[in-house]
Formats: sequence, C-alpha cells, structure tokens
Amino acid sequence: MPGEKTFHMTPDEFRRHGHAVVDWIADYYARIETFPVLSRAEPGRIRASLPAAPPGKGESFPTILADIERLIVPGITHWQSPNFYAFFPSNASGPAILGDLLSSGLGVQGMLWATSPACTELETHVLDWLVHMLALPQKFLSTSSGGGVIQDTASSASLCALLAARERATNFASNLRGCDGKLVAYTSSQAHSSIEKAVQIAGVGRDNLRLIEVDQNFAMRPEALTRQIEQDHRANLVPCFVCATVGTTSSNGIDPVPQIGRICREHKLWLHVDAAMSGTAALCPEFRNIHAGLDFADSYCFNPHKWMFTNFDCDCFYVADRKALIQTLSVLPEYLRNKATETGAVIDYRDWQIPLGRRFRSLKLWFVIRHYGVEGLQHHIRGHVELAQKFAEWVNKDERFELAAPAPLNLVCFRHKAGDEINQSLMDRLNRSGDLYLTHTRLNDRLTLRLCVGQTNTTARHIEKAWKRIQEEAAKFKMSA
Ligand code: PLP
Repeated sequence: MPGEKTFHMTPDEFRRHGHAVVDWIADYYARIETFPVLSRAEPGRIRASLPAAPPGKGESFPTILADIERLIVPGITHWQSPNFYAFFPSNASGPAILGDLLSSGLGVQGMLWATSPACTELETHVLDWLVHMLALPQKFLSTSSGGGVIQDTASSASLCALLAARERATNFASNLRGCDGKLVAYTSSQAHSSIEKAVQIAGVGRDNLRLIEVDQNFAMRPEALTRQIEQDHRANLVPCFVCATVGTTSSNGIDPVPQIGRICREHKLWLHVDAAMSGTAALCPEFRNIHAGLDFADSYCFNPHKWMFTNFDCDCFYVADRKALIQTLSVLPEYLRNKATETGAVIDYRDWQIPLGRRFRSLKLWFVIRHYGVEGLQHHIRGHVELAQKFAEWVNKDERFELAAPAPLNLVCFRHKAGDEINQSLMDRLNRSGDLYLTHTRLNDRLTLRLCVGQTNTTARHIEKAWKRIQEEAAKFKMSA
C-alpha cells in the first residue's frame, strides 16, 4: 500500500550500499598485506567491543559498514592474505565472491528440482564438467549410474558415504532398526578427524573405527588393512567401509588407492576417497597420478573451497551408484510431494545430503570455471605447486633444516633440526610478527612445521619473503643440536 510504513532497504538504497560493500571488499584485497595475517585479538576482546543490547531503532548502513572496519577487522585472521600458509587454504576469488552474492540475491532453496530447476540443473551440469576437468571415472557422471552433488564440506560428504556404505552392508536394515555394533570402518592413522566424527554420528561407533598404520610416507599400509579386515571377519564383525585419503591433512600423504581398491572389491567394502584439498591438482594432467585407482571407488570428494578459488562452502561429492545414496537418505513427507519428483525424471538433491534446504552453490563454481577457464585454473594450480617445490628445495639446501615428509604437491612439511622447542618458538615468533601464518603437526612424534601454498594471490615474492623471514628467525637461535 502506498505510504505504508516500511523498515526495508529500498532497491535504490540496496544499489548504493551494495556498491559501497563491493568497494570495501576490493579495497580490502588491495591492502590485505598491511594486516597481521594472524589476528592479534585476545579472547573476548571482539565481543567486549560490541554493544550489550541490540539496537531498538535501525541504524544507517554507513554506520554498520564502518563497524566492520572498526570492530570486526581486528578480529579477522586473513585467510585471503597471500602470506597465509596455515592448515589448508580456503581460497576465494572475484568470480566466486560475485557468484555467491548472486546466490544470496536470488535466495532460492534448491531442495527439490521443482523448487528451482536451474539450481539443480546447473549443479548437475557443473559437476559433470568437473568429472571431465579432473579426468575422474565416467561412472561419476550423472549420465551414468552415479553423479555428483555439492555438499557443504568434505566432512558431510564422508558422512553421507559412510551412511550409504552402512545401508548397503545391511541391506538397508540399519535405517529401519539402527545399528547392532557389528559394522566396522577403516581409515589410516593419518586420515582427517571428520572420519572419526562420521563413525560417531552414523552409529558405527568409535570403537569400530580401525586406524590402519602407515608407511614412512604416511600412506596407509594395504597389507595391514587386509590383516585387520580378516581379523574382524573372524570376530564375526561386518567390515563395511574404507576411507582412503589423497593428500592427508598433516603431511599430504597419498594412500595407495589401487591396492586398497582391490582389497575393498575382494571383501565387498565401500571405498570412499577423500581428496579434500589435493583433488584440485588433478586439473593438471601431470598431477593426475594422485587419482590412480579411483576406478575402484564407490565415492569420492574434493573441495573447490580449499584450493580451487571457490569461496567456502563447496565440496564436490561423487558416487558411483546414486541409487544406494538416494535410498539411504530419502524420506518423502506429503508436503514435499510434487509432479516432477513423481515422474522420476528429475534430481531432488535433498536426497543426496543430510539437510533438506540447500543454497545455490553451483553459481560460484560456475563463475569460477567460466572466468578462469581450464587453462587459467591449471596455470594457477601449477604455479602453487612450483612455489612449494621451490620452498622445499631451499629447506633442503639449508643445513639447519630438514624436510619431514615428501612434498608431492603444494604442502611442505619441514623442521629445524634443533628439536621441538626451537620449532615451536620459531613458529610462534613468525606468527606473532604478522608477516605470515604457518601451522604445525606432529610427524613421527616430532613437531613439524607446515607451509601450504594455496592462497589465490600467493606469488614468488611472497614465498621468498616467507623463507627470508624463517631464516631470519632461525638465525636468532644458536644451533644446539
Ligand atoms: N579431509 C581432509 C583430507 C582435510 O584435509 C580436511 C580439512 O582440512 C577435511 C577432510 C575436512 O574438510 P571440511 O572442512 O570440508 O569438512
């Protein structure tokens, strides 16, 4: 009604404030290297700076935006800084940010094909593109027995894989009656903690997760896997699921998927391959050997939200047999019934994931792929691997340091030879300086520093500076070993 009171932002205000936000983001990227990479906020400081009570009356948008700078930025660890080398990257890019903005603007729920056909069909299409781009097995195509879906995270993908494995192993009886404590899952001692969480959630139970030992390269020992499966069979347990990792979080270890796959086939176990960060490397033909043996896999996932310039959240999850997944996760209440679903001619992605609702995440992925093209993506992934390899060479040549694990791609695990205390102190000083951000792990029970190259804008200049800073800090220690 004309003249009716409204508190909404008008379209003109939205346009104006939207431009200001985009300007702010562009400026943020332009000055990102001026911030300490790791936030210096003390615990509770950000919260203490916020008003105790919500505003009674709405505030002006410029005031709100100014508070981003004043109150929020001091509590930001700058994941998009080119000097960020911690954990695994969670990189972003212009096209992904804009795709995400459009997804918010459209604000659709893509739980059913019918609730926004484009949301489903673009996702199916882009995930099929990625099968070709990464040279994944054809069975993961939507036009074959399988297909891909975007999950929020690799954790959710692994959980869905385990649930489908559980149902396949029990002929869908555990969905009806729950688990009986007999199912067993396997992964290596180096696998991501999300597998442990998945067995807890799926009702398999943590006692029924076997952490298989690894070799000197931190890759699962297939003979140890066989031994454990046979032992569990003898104990009248029901082995059902193996998760192999391509690029472990600690050290980028690559499990021998071909051997593991043969074991899974022989014992009829579901094989899930978690390539959360490293899968992106397969964009480049020269790195596709990391996916050897994927033909044996029942499911596979990798995260464009780690290394493929696509803002969190975006995990691509593929299954070889979509029927098993759908039968595991499908529940159809009356209020979701619709003609399109009943024809069986459409995909309803709600049946491929845990939640019902889903965002239009394929938009940002589509934008990224179209903006960079395969060539652009390969160029930057190759560049990151080259930078990491160069860094590994420098480490190798400096007698104070050693490599702690093979560096097949973009992660370098290294340590000062003088022991844990020195490494801890080195890392703390570097991180406190704000010049770069590194994190650690333990390999062979020794504190190990990790430098992972994967932020969108990291170049040779940044890696050179990182190595220079590491050397400067190391020079402050007397060699004690
Ligand atoms: N798997 C591996 C090998 C990882 O390195 C990680 C995170 O670093 C995950 C799974 C979990 O990723 P997400 O945050 O997408 O669940």
